[in-house]
Amino acid sequence: MQDSFGRGITYLRLSVTELCNLRCRYCMPEEGVCKKRHEEMLTQEEMLQAVRAAASLGITKLRITGGEPLVKPNIVELCRGAAATEGIREVCLTTNGTLLPQLAVPLREAGVKRLNISLDTLDAEKYRRITRLGSLEQALAGIEAALDAGFEKIKLNTVLIGGFNDDEIPQLAELTRRWNLDLRFIELMPMLDSDEFGPEAFLPYTVVTEKLPQLVPAAADGGVAKLFRLPGAQGNVGLISPVSAHFCAECNRIRLTADGKLKPCLHSSAEFPIKGLDYEGMREQIKTAILAKPQWHGALDYSHHSQAKRNMNQIGG
Ligand code: SAM
Ligand code: SF4
Repeated sequence: MQDSFGRGITYLRLSVTELCNLRCRYCMPEEGVCKKRHEEMLTQEEMLQAVRAAASLGITKLRITGGEPLVKPNIVELCRGAAATEGIREVCLTTNGTLLPQLAVPLREAGVKRLNISLDTLDAEKYRRITRLGSLEQALAGIEAALDAGFEKIKLNTVLIGGFNDDEIPQLAELTRRWNLDLRFIELMPMLDSDEFGPEAFLPYTVVTEKLPQLVPAAADGGVAKLFRLPGAQGNVGLISPVSAHFCAECNRIRLTADGKLKPCLHSSAEFPIKGLDYEGMREQIKTAILAKPQWHGALDYSHHSQAKRNMNQIGG
């Protein structure tokens, strides 16, 4: 289905939980989330019904995200159900990777084709600092498990944070030589609780090309990243610039939060509830949300915070 600005909407990002086993400083408060009542959250059946309704309106690609999707009980069954939905051609999943040693093979067998795994640093102490709880060793073990499980594509997501990991840009990019995967640097977005980051943390994607002059442009893959490659590398280095050069004109996605709110735009406060609706009701509400998709997300930078009124773990990054 097309939105009011002629953009074809083919991509649904489904957040299956707000909970997480980490507490990344740019994503979640230290104390975690105030756990909502079970009745407020979508059930697994409602999530799959929403996927069916979305597919009937032209959604072909689904990304399962969170919070951390792998902490959700029955995540494998949910992925299997989504992958079996008529019209859904591709189920992808975004994860911090720490539970992949146990779950990579079952997820692949359930029909998940592609994985995005978050990794902001290769330094164990810095990993612990940015995630507040995590272990780099566990995250790297998750990446290795994913590589062994035979996914069609694996991408690492690195949030670029000035004064934290800009000194590691070359080492992180080198992972595309060591492993058959892409690594994407993503500009830090000023979400609800990003106050601990000063202006120096918000780096434009161009710092990557400045630090890696040997990068050569690579063929586009239809995604939002500008793609480059290190000579001799197995995968691409991607640059994603939601802040310094937004890609709203090509945006093809809508989002569904774990508490059942359709979000036509990541950075807008507009939300359309679907909790408790039947199939037809969800279908109508998805149409309404698509038609309400704004032309662009409005000013977004250190002094203009996202209008989303939620942190990323409560939207689904
Ligand atoms: N827990 C999973 C993970 O970490 O990959 C999936 C959910 S997480 C919210 C999805 C992505 O959003 C991660 O790659 C994370 O780094 C990114 N993210 C969260 N907050 C962000 C922010 N303020 N700016 C840029 N990216 C952010
Ligand atoms: Fe959890 Fe992912 Fe947010 Fe980190 S970025 S706190 S891993 S949801």
